[in-house]
Amino acid sequence: MLNKKTVDDLKDLQGKKVLVRCDFNVPLKEGVIQNYNRIDGAIPTIKKLLDQGAKVILCSHLGKPKGQPLPEMSLAPVAPALSERLGVEVKFVDDPQVTGEETKKVAAELKDGEVLLLQNTRYRIEETKYKEGDAATEAYAKELADLCDGGVFVDDAFGTAHRAHCSNVGVTKYTKENVVGYLMQKEIKFLGQAVENPVRPFVAILGGAKVSDKINVINNLLDKVDTLIIGGGMAYTFAKAQGQEIGNSLCEADKLDYALEMVKKAEEKGVKLLLPVDHVEGKEFSNDTEHKVVDVIDAGWSGFDIGPKTIELYKDALKGAKTVVWNGPMGVFEFSNFAEGTLEICRAVAELADATTVIGGGDSVNAVKRLGFADKMTHISTGGGASLEFLEGKELPGVAAADNA
Ligand code: AMP
Repeated sequence: MLNKKTVDDLKDLQGKKVLVRCDFNVPLKEGVIQNYNRIDGAIPTIKKLLDQGAKVILCSHLGKPKGQPLPEMSLAPVAPALSERLGVEVKFVDDPQVTGEETKKVAAELKDGEVLLLQNTRYRIEETKYKEGDAATEAYAKELADLCDGGVFVDDAFGTAHRAHCSNVGVTKYTKENVVGYLMQKEIKFLGQAVENPVRPFVAILGGAKVSDKINVINNLLDKVDTLIIGGGMAYTFAKAQGQEIGNSLCEADKLDYALEMVKKAEEKGVKLLLPVDHVEGKEFSNDTEHKVVDVIDAGWSGFDIGPKTIELYKDALKGAKTVVWNGPMGVFEFSNFAEGTLEICRAVAELADATTVIGGGDSVNAVKRLGFADKMTHISTGGGASLEFLEGKELPGVAAADNA
């Protein structure tokens, strides 16, 4: 799964059309882009293709228009942002059909080194419904492939790699060469290496609200890690399963057996499974609520963060780690009174010498960025759902569709 052809394997691109699936799912407010990270991230792959004289056609989804050409989800604002960064004018066709007559004409007339951005791939209802053999979705996938003459396709959108859509998986049936871009390559490299071939000791940190969201991740990682650290709301289902008082803390009653099963699995595998030994509890789910550090949660109170002894325990467990994967905050980090645990674990991970540190999507990425440690991590995944499925050990359809190296 991990040894895939990349843009660096493409040869003789002069004058050839290349279709690139990007992730331009940028936050927009009244048509103005609020954050350019995704656009900036796409530039190296596009530049590499342009440097080789290719005619580049870019596509992406933005939001969930569900087959409707909603103007607030138009990719129009992305074109000038790309033009500015690439130093060439990026053409854009506001085509509700995405692959309609005008788009085909502009694509056909592209000159070497020119760039065309297609309209939101999800303006077409077929996009997210790709099914092999289904006439309508196969037709849309082929229309996309026809824009690059069925030649070269580059997938650089990790955020959708866990989904088989027309513009990332369907299209590859109709293009001759299918490779991954630099962003996707980086994701596969770091997440893949961590999960498949980690340098040990390998420590995983899982947190966040629910056990149920990460059931398969916990199960899969227990087969791989030396130490599994659990924090956040999900820790309380484990605590409750082990007979501890948890007051009003988050608890998934239907996952108690599962939690015990995981504790047993850890024992059998010789994996150190660490759970909080103290907590910061609060009365209400609010930053202004009364709060205090306790070993055992009081009746009527909720655990909203790991306590100082737990922080020390977890920091100790991280010492000497050579691979760390982290998904999910240690507490309600959005509230400053319950952010200490996440902050301290973040700092400990950031300060590890010679370790590969991978932050796997979603809220842990927000936490790391918000707390100012983003540039201290080896890799911050751009795909929440995709990185979770990666950690579950699933094959991602968007990655599987690329040619093997
Ligand atoms: P997830 O998306 O599953 O990673 O969950 C992230 C969310 O879990 C964040 O919004 C946190 O505020 C929340 N969270 C973390 N710890 C707790 C906790 N002890 N109680 C309630 N919510 C929590």
